[in-house]
Amino acid sequence: MADVLKKVPVREQDPQERAANFKEVCYGYNREEAMEEASRCIHCKNAKCIGGCPVNINIPDFIAQVKEGNIEAAYQIISESSALPAICGRVCPQESQCEGKCIRGVKGEPVSIGKLERFVADWAREQGIRPVPASEKNGHKVAVIGSGPAGLTCAGDLARMGYDVTIFEALHKAGGVLSYGIPEFRLPKDEVVAAEIENVKSLGVKIETNVIIGKSVTVDELMEDEGYEAVFIGSGAGLPMFMGIPGENANGVFSANEYLTRNNLMKAFREDYETPIAHGKKVAVVGGGNVAMDAARTALRLGAEVHIIYRRSEEELPARREEVHHAKEEGIIFNLLTNPTEILVDDNGWVKGIRCIRMELGEPDASGRRRPVPVEGSEFEMEVDTVIMSLGTSPNPLISSTTEGLDVNRKKCIVADEDNGQTSKEGVFAGGDAVTGAATVILAMGAGKAAAKGIHEYITGKNRKN
Ligand SMILES: Cc1cc2nc3c(=O)[nH]c(=O)nc-3n(C[C@H](O)[C@H](O)[C@H](O)COP(=O)(O)OP(=O)(O)OC[C@H]3O[C@@H](n4cnc5c(N)ncnc54)[C@H](O)[C@@H]3O)c2cc1C
Ligand code: SF4
Repeated sequence: MADVLKKVPVREQDPQERAANFKEVCYGYNREEAMEEASRCIHCKNAKCIGGCPVNINIPDFIAQVKEGNIEAAYQIISESSALPAICGRVCPQESQCEGKCIRGVKGEPVSIGKLERFVADWAREQGIRPVPASEKNGHKVAVIGSGPAGLTCAGDLARMGYDVTIFEALHKAGGVLSYGIPEFRLPKDEVVAAEIENVKSLGVKIETNVIIGKSVTVDELMEDEGYEAVFIGSGAGLPMFMGIPGENANGVFSANEYLTRNNLMKAFREDYETPIAHGKKVAVVGGGNVAMDAARTALRLGAEVHIIYRRSEEELPARREEVHHAKEEGIIFNLLTNPTEILVDDNGWVKGIRCIRMELGEPDASGRRRPVPVEGSEFEMEVDTVIMSLGTSPNPLISSTTEGLDVNRKKCIVADEDNGQTSKEGVFAGGDAVTGAATVILAMGAGKAAAKGIHEYITGKNRKN
């Protein structure tokens, strides 16, 4: 008899094997495992898990269908709220959202909501089941900037309401961070990301790639010359930050974004692609977030010995526990309470090492975490040939600087109403990382959803007045 206090365990690729390949780490549940896990849900009347989900999926109802083996019905319930369930089931931080609120978690482990969502979405994809498009178009045109989770969700929801929606994407491939940032071994690109984007397109959404708003065409031109009644900006936060230490311009120093883009979007890890990437022997990744874990685990798979350098202790690591656990299992070395002070460069301008200082934790700072303080006289040098900086990102100011009347805050994030995405400019809405700064897939989706509603109310209100 299975222990109802514990999740049905999920099968994963062996750590030693996976450290040398880019295949997906987690295999997910099969039908029997999913039905068994679903039977742990007690279908609470006042289900707290729903409130923990930023797109409010009806979790107890979809799980009840899984329990009965009605997977298609479960999929239709999920797709009323989410256009990207196979993606969310893989990358959402469920432990701090739906599963963090699950009543089962009080005495044991919460229901494995994420893995159940993933199972349902994968099953539906394998059966060729798609979300249902709107029966009629309403004749109103909306432009969406950016094809990340915020843009895709906003576009999908508007298309379901009958709008004629076009997404404009700067890169040659749609998906935002889902395509260029999160590695293949966590989120398969062709099998999962491309398939869910196809689902959004099947709702009638058009996607134009290689269009940089602010350069190819401006927001004002979209509205004044091209007949779009509203614009949603979901352009993300793709501008990397650096430390400003000596040696940061040397050859062999990358931002995590560039490193991951070369590998994920431009497939540098595949021999049939010509994209160059540094095959470092010893790589230092500076930072402790999910992006740092992704960069480190990518460098490991490309054959390097990889060191994470993080200035606080393990307790403060911002990355998801699961990612830290996987990184350690695969052999990533954690240099905690350590901060770089200089990147050492050889006579030809290439990285040859990194100078660091040990840190200790002082009083809590504004973030509530204990402030790291350098330990005097503790500097040391480490030999490395590649350094990947993963210190966070901010929104690119291109759109805000080319759009008249669009307010941004001091971090260059677009100012928008959380409830409906409305910005300071009439007819222009925004959401996702472009508004919050770097956050999560599901928060971006929640913002895209709220903005779709806001745009619908704006356009119907405007037409009622006319
Ligand atoms: C490496 C990495 C790993 C992550 N891992 C996770 C995870 O495990 N779980 C999680 O929940 N979150 C994770 N995140 C964060 C998450 O991916 C983001 O919060 C989310 O993608 C934000 O969605 P978005 O739609 O706002 O922006 P993005 O996904 O950044 O998409 C914005 C899109 O807009 C396009 N764009 C930008 N400017 C223009 C322009 N001027 N004209 C046209 N198009 C433009 C960009 O090319 C991009 O495609 C990770 C982020 C990174 C970088
Ligand atoms: S809180 Fe947990 S047990 Fe209750 S309905 Fe949600 S998933 Fe099921």
